[in-house]
Amino acid sequence: MIENAKLIELTEKYDSPLYVYDASKMESQYNRLTNAFKEVKNLKLNYAVKALSNINVLHYFKKLGAGLDTVSIQEVQLSLATGINPKDIIYTPNGVSLQEIEEVAEMGVQINIDNLSILELFGQKHPEIPVCIRINPHIMAGGNSKISVGHIDSKFGISIHQVPHIKRVVENTGMRINGIHMHTGSDILDIDTFLRATEILFDVARQFDNIDFIDFGSGFKVPYKEGDISTDVEQLGLQLGERFNQFCEEYGKELTLMFEPGKFLVSEAGVFLAKVNVVKQTTSTVFAHVDSGFNHLVRPMMYDSYHKISNISNPDGRMRYYSVVGYICETDTFGSNRRISEISDGDILCFHNAGAYCFSMASNYNSRYLPAEVLVVNGNDYLIRKRETFKDLLRNQEVVSLGTEKIPV
Ligand SMILES: *Cc1c(COP(=O)(O)O)cnc(C)c1O
Repeated sequence: MIENAKLIELTEKYDSPLYVYDASKMESQYNRLTNAFKEVKNLKLNYAVKALSNINVLHYFKKLGAGLDTVSIQEVQLSLATGINPKDIIYTPNGVSLQEIEEVAEMGVQINIDNLSILELFGQKHPEIPVCIRINPHIMAGGNSKISVGHIDSKFGISIHQVPHIKRVVENTGMRINGIHMHTGSDILDIDTFLRATEILFDVARQFDNIDFIDFGSGFKVPYKEGDISTDVEQLGLQLGERFNQFCEEYGKELTLMFEPGKFLVSEAGVFLAKVNVVKQTTSTVFAHVDSGFNHLVRPMMYDSYHKISNISNPDGRMRYYSVVGYICETDTFGSNRRISEISDGDILCFHNAGAYCFSMASNYNSRYLPAEVLVVNGNDYLIRKRETFKDLLRNQEVVSLGTEKIPV
């Protein structure tokens, strides 16, 4: 990982708050997953764009040989802007309009449909375009209720119990199903649960006679703090790899095994750096207020996520207890009662695991600027997103005359 001294230097060069990503960690995670499935002849990893969607990151994964997994037409457009072959993009939206799906299909991108109504409409209009179907196997896999999407009443996917209906749609329209997909939700802790879900997918796959791939989605769990359990991808690779190869033999075709990891590939590659504005003592707590808030890193407030926080300006100082909070005029606690080396005003705090779902979920709340992003490749730092300025806040705002005089700007 990037050394503390280098991170401090980067905040001096680019100011704070700042996101910094280490490309070598992205690469090693990509290689780790690829190696885990080395027994599978056709493996395709599609990086989930929504985790961290800076175009340079997309470009980097394209260079590594990954495809891209997208959930909106805008993510598709961003992906295409890297020059990637549309065939290497999969589009897995939820609840979008038929029109958007048609537009994406026209670009030559692999479509993944997750409801029967649109499947039937799409199949009637475009029987020549093969589509993947997103199945909900109703296996609840780990994590937080907000990120688990495989439970019975989830809005995601077509229920496993509706496969007869899918088959009827296919027969009626003459369309072809070329892939079977599931994404049971983030944070797979337990390989057996995951393997049970994959058996359900194989059962579905058997019912369609000309598929090309099975996409097992994602949900690889990474450690956020010491002692965290993470997905044993090597073990999963061994077990699922073997089972997949068996299935291909039974099916009579070399299918492609796909995954679409986001968090696994980028979470640990990123850190968020913020400067301490003031250390404030109350009757029971010492607060360290940083020059950021849930506008820039919402996961602790939204998902109760734990992000390790370290004081990189004083890493060897005495350990003390702090609540690290932001400057937003609302509760925006990054971490309560954390043991951190002694903090002084002006110190730089480092929030770990800030690669996935951090910048990509950032907002302008409180009219603050979005932070800058830096990518470190082979020891060189590249500014991959400029910090916003006041102009960005006013962009798209129309100053209108409200019956009196124009507001002077
Ligand atoms: C978000 C998402 C992913 C990525 O999930 P991670 O937990 O970040 O790996 C993969 N597939 C789909 C369809 C998603 O919506």
